[in-house]
This record gives sequence, C-alpha cells and structure tokens, in this order.
Amino acid sequence: MPANNEIKAPPALKARLGKLGLSRSSDLVLHLPLRYEDETRIASIASALSGCPVQLEVVVLEVSVQFRPRRQLVVRVADGSGELTLRFLNFYGSQTKQLERARDEKHHLRLFGEIRHGFLGAEMVHPRYRLVAEGDVLPESLTPVYPTTAGVSQTALRKCILLALAESKLDELLDEAWCARHGLVLFGGAVRLLHSPPPDVPEMALQERTHPAWRRIKFDELLAQQLSLRRAYLGRRKKGAPVLAPSGRLARRLLASLPFDLTAAQQRVVGEISVDLAQAFPMQRLLQGDVGSGKTIVAALAACQAIEAGSQVAFMAPTEILAEQHYLKLCAWLEPLGVEVAWLTGSLTKAAKRESQQRAATTAQLVIGTHALIQESVDYARLGLVIVDEQHRFGVAQRLELRRKGEKNARPPHQLMMSATPIPRTLAMSYYADLDVSVLDELPPGRTPVRTRLVSDARREEVIQRIRGAVASGRQAYWVCPLIEESEKLQLQTALDTHAVLSQELQGLRVGLVHGRLKADEKAATMAAFAAGDIDVLVATTVIEVGVDVPNASLMVIEHAERFGLSQLHQLRGRVGRGKDESVCILVYQQPLSQTARERLKIIYENTDGFEIARQDLHLRGPGEFVGSRQSGVPLLRYADLETDVDLIELARDMAERLLRDAPDLAERHLARWLGSREELLKA
Ligand code: ADP
Ligand code: MG
Repeated sequence: MPANNEIKAPPALKARLGKLGLSRSSDLVLHLPLRYEDETRIASIASALSGCPVQLEVVVLEVSVQFRPRRQLVVRVADGSGELTLRFLNFYGSQTKQLERARDEKHHLRLFGEIRHGFLGAEMVHPRYRLVAEGDVLPESLTPVYPTTAGVSQTALRKCILLALAESKLDELLDEAWCARHGLVLFGGAVRLLHSPPPDVPEMALQERTHPAWRRIKFDELLAQQLSLRRAYLGRRKKGAPVLAPSGRLARRLLASLPFDLTAAQQRVVGEISVDLAQAFPMQRLLQGDVGSGKTIVAALAACQAIEAGSQVAFMAPTEILAEQHYLKLCAWLEPLGVEVAWLTGSLTKAAKRESQQRAATTAQLVIGTHALIQESVDYARLGLVIVDEQHRFGVAQRLELRRKGEKNARPPHQLMMSATPIPRTLAMSYYADLDVSVLDELPPGRTPVRTRLVSDARREEVIQRIRGAVASGRQAYWVCPLIEESEKLQLQTALDTHAVLSQELQGLRVGLVHGRLKADEKAATMAAFAAGDIDVLVATTVIEVGVDVPNASLMVIEHAERFGLSQLHQLRGRVGRGKDESVCILVYQQPLSQTARERLKIIYENTDGFEIARQDLHLRGPGEFVGSRQSGVPLLRYADLETDVDLIELARDMAERLLRDAPDLAERHLARWLGSREELLKA
C-alpha cells in the first residue's frame, strides 16, 4: 500500500468518493470492477445482436432535435454495413453542436451501447460516444466498469484508481509458497490484472469472477472477515468471567424430576456448555437446534449450573408470549427445587416492575423476560449467565446493549444464544466465526413428523371441514393469517377480518384471536386459554411464530402461504407436531402461483429438516436474510460468494488461525488493508 494512504484528487471529488466508502488510496485499490466492456473490437451495425453491448465506428448523417413524444436529440449514423438511430433524452446544446460539426466535417464517432431493433429500425438509446480520428488505435484490453455514484464518472474513477495502483506497493502479506500450494496468485498481480486486464485474459473468467485473480481477492476478503471475528473471539478469552463449577447437584435434581430423558444430542450440548461455564473467560456460544429439538431444557440446565455456583441468570426472549411461556415452564421446573424466579417485561405496571428490578438487584436467581431485562435501570446483583432465546430476532442495538451491560462489569457474564433458524454451515463458518456453535441435531423420540399439505384456496371449504373434524376429536388448531408485510395497520385489519369470517364459518366452535397489537396481558390471557383448551381454533398472526408450545394443537392452516419466507413457514409449522398424535400443516395458496412461489412451496412441502430448508433458502435468496441485522449498515461480502466459495472459506479460516498465532503484525496489516475503519461495525 502507498506510504501515504491519502487519495490524490480535488476535494469535491474526494468527498464524493467518500460516499462510496473510498476514503483511502488503498480503498481505491480494492474497489474492483463490477464488469468489463469490450472496446477492443469494432462491430458492424448489420451484424450487431440486439441487446448485446457492442462498439461501433460510424459517421453522422443527420442531427435533429425532436419534440415528440418528448424533447430528444436524434442522430442518424451509418457505417459501411447499415444505418442506426441514436436517441438522447437528456442532452446539452453543446452536444448538438458537436455532433453537427462531426456531420459537417465527416469525423468518426465511436459508440458503445446496445442496439435494439424496434418498430423504427435499429436504435441505440444513450450510447457512450467519442469523436476519433479515422483508424484511431483501439484499446488492447477490456475496459473495467466500476460501481459508482452520482457525480463520479467512470473516467474520473478509473483515473483515481490507476493513480492509486501506480503509487501503491501492493506488497504480498502471505507466505508465497503457501499461496502457490493453494492455487492463489499473488495479491499485487491480482489487483493489477482486475483493474487493467491484459489483452489475452479470458473474458468469461473475468466477467464471471472465476479467474485466479478473482479467487485471490475473494480469499483475501474472507481472510479479513475471519481475522476480524477470530480476533474478537480471542480477545474475549483475555477477559475474566465468573468460574461456574459447582457440584452439579441442582442440574441433577432437575433432570430427575423430568418426565423424559435427554436425547444424546442434548447431553452432548449440555456437556459443551457446562465445560464453557467452568472457564474463567466468558462463554459466547450459539445453540442451534431445529424447532422442537428441546433447547429450553438445555438452557434450564445451564441456568442450574450458574445458580448453584451462586450466580444470577437472565433469560431473555424476543416477545412477551415467548417470554411468558419460558417463565411458566421454568417456574414449574425450578421453583420446586427452591430457585427464586423473577419476571420482568415492559408491560408490567410501574410498581410490579420496580419490585422485579429490586429482586434482580438482590435475591432473584433467575430473571426471565423480554428486552426489559437489559434496560439501564436494571442492575443485577451478580449476573453470571445471560441466555438469549431466538437471538436473531433481536436487533444489533439490543445485542450491543447486552454486551455493554456485561462489559461494564470487570467480569462480563457468560452468554448462551439460541436459535431455531438454522444457519447454513457456510454462514456459520463465516459470519458467525466469533462464536462457538453447538448443534442439537436430533429431535426427541416419539414425535410423528408433521404432514404438510398444499391446498389451493379454491378448496377452502374442505379446510374448514378438516378443522371441524379435528376439534370434534378433541384437538385444537391454529389458523395463521395472511402476511401483510407492507403495513402493520393492514396486517391488523386482516387479522380482525379473518377472525370475523372464521367465527362465522366455524359457528359452534370457540375461535380466539391473537395478534401483535394486543396488550401483553390480553395476549397472555388468550394464549393461556388456548393452552388450557378453552379455545378450539386460534387465529393468529406470526406472533406465534417463535417458541409457542401447545401440544394438543395438531392442525395448522397457513393462509396465503406463498407470501411467507421459507424459514418462517418452517417455524410456524414447528408449532404443531408437539404431541403424540400425527399433526398436519395445511398451506393454503392463492392461484395463480409464480414460478418461484411454486419452487419455494415445493421446498417446504418436500423437506422437514430445517437445515436443508435453510440451505435451499440461502440458495434462493442469498445471505442477507440470515445475517440480517447482524451486519446492518455494513455491506455483506463484496466479492466472495458463500455458496460457490466454500473451499476458500475453509482455507481462510486456517490461514487466519495461523496468522493470529504466528504473525500478528501481518494479520494487522491485512485487516487494515481490507477493513480500515469499518472493522468495529463488523462485530455487532
Ligand atoms: P425448541 O428447541 O423449539 O425451543 P422446546 O425446548 O420448546 O423446543 O421443546 C419442545 C418440546 O419437547 C417441549 O414440550 C419439551 O418439554 C419437549 N422435550 C424436550 N426435550 C425432550 C426429550 N429429550 N424428550 C422428550 N421431550 C422433550
Ligand atoms: Mg424454543
């Protein structure tokens, strides 16, 4: 990199480059082309294919400004093979004059653009053009096209980048022999090639980013990500945390009181967590397990270990409904063992809240609730473990708050994060590389898998009959309202309408309603009535998506299933199939279905394994959905592709470990090159 990393450009341009995230000369070096244009050849008008970018060399026949359908500059041009119309909807008077002069003086014009064969013959709209002397030499290599923004032309950007390249050392930071062994070309050569490809470079490999130069860049990007996350991981190990290593009596008593034995997967994961909690540095572990895999008992056992060791535990859930379910379940499990459990959510009355906070600050051993748990006014007496259920539901701000809460203490608490949205392996290996991951890859025995049905909404009457049948045989059902993502108001109205219509259609049955706008105590009362069997059919929005557990509900209808995300459908479907009897999930879709909607419903119909669904979802939609707020404000990987570059992720992981261990200074320089000042953001 250049000794002086400042961009050489006029201040106004510099400011605009800053908007593109380009504030240092080294940022320019890594600002790589989106694609390339081939200006090395000249095509003829007659042979140019519609819709493909081509370069032409023409003379001007006619220049006119027309006013219909709107003001535009229309230019007739020709080469030896035919004629073509150029249209410019935005143009300057000087442009008109320049083209008229070209016509009069028979100058040649080089055009770059796409030909369209329309009603009025061959046309090019807004081609790029410049005047050239006849026989002017052609560039020998492909022309890079960069991502840019208003006010920064390709030409200006190219100039800045070439200057930055020329002045940069671009030194190799990695072991050259190691690179060669793994088919990685050197860094300097790679960026130079990508910015100004030599004439003989295979065009396809460049455009499709399979060229070895691209491979090296993708590797470097992944390496920066790994270094940043692993460094955060190792940094945490230098912090102290309470050592929670009691005899294990409390956990054993809880296990003895359960009506079931742990699955092998649960035992393994409980063991992993238990080892972490006994360490003198804070655990940061992600527990992944498909819906129904039994994460709650694992969390409860971890809580037992912390409580027995004299620490407090905070157990946080993203919604009141879920928090309350946890509260009831954990009270039932732990209060008989003498554990003091407190309940804290935003909806409590002031007095009740004050009392809970008071207990958190003194005697409570386990505090359960929503993110009210981490508000400023809550001061824990001796917080040792924080459990976060459905962690991906919390925003970055809340997660940072939680971390800060811990870091205020000299010894931050251990953290256990749980998620039922399976993170595909490649994502876990990349974006989550700062966490330890445990996986519950086994469902408790005796579950009958949920059968999934796809039904067109034309057959609604059959669905209604099915619900009657289920209720007649003593079962309960969920009816999930169509999702209206654009408007919360419409979503509420839809829920109310659906409830009204179903109450009509299902006369004689007890139909309840739960949606996001209900007050917390109303929500809780409805859920309790449903759990107690006092409601037959529960009409619900996606508020029931996470964690709700009513084993007697064995039928779920999801209306307008085509509007939901795959992981959302999988989560919803996981609300049934929790009892002994066979459960059914009916996905009602509206005709006609688009091709992608059809493909997505097929995936959910054919798969019951959340990991496989997530993998296919990643394939369909890219990582944004999964990574979500974790990276908000920070661009996802710019060059590497989690699907096609798995081998590079693995390689980058190995190299990151090696650099951090053997050559921390090189690790530092690699991070500076790639992340600069953005690194802090990546850790949220
Ligand atoms: P999730 O992983 O989706 O949070 P839960 O913890 O809610 O799953 O567990 C789902 C259901 O399975 C609960 O009713 C729970 O009590 C039960 N369960 C958990 N572990 C086992 C097990 N080993 N054997 C039988 N039932 C279990
Ligand atoms: Mg759960």
